[in-house]
Amino acid sequence: MVKIECNFCNGKCIKNGFQINGSQRYKCTICRKGQQKEYYYNACKTSTNKNIIIFTKEGLGIRSTARILKISTTTLLKRIVTIAKNIHQPIISKGKTYEKNLSRYP
Ligand SMILES: [Zn+2]
Repeated sequence: MVKIECNFCNGKCIKNGFQINGSQRYKCTICRKGQQKEYYYNACKTSTNKNIIIFTKEGLGIRSTARILKISTTTLLKRIVTIAKNIHQPIISKGKTYEKNLSRYP
């Protein structure tokens, strides 16, 4: 089991319902601030996912990104969807072309 510590005071966090997207929410028992599990997983995410985010922000296309990372476009698209679901802060959505491109893709 993953130990959940508060982002703000390092206190112990307890489960506190779910996000709209279904991810577990946590609440600090000390400072009562809400937390999300995904924050803690950011460090464990593969470098591939980080590269996908970087390349997407740079405006690289799906096929170019897939070729550089040596993964299939299918895998890449699945990853992008997973990454997008896990993003709570608008890392990519700043450049709104990302969502448009994604929805346009067959
Ligand atoms: Zn706290």
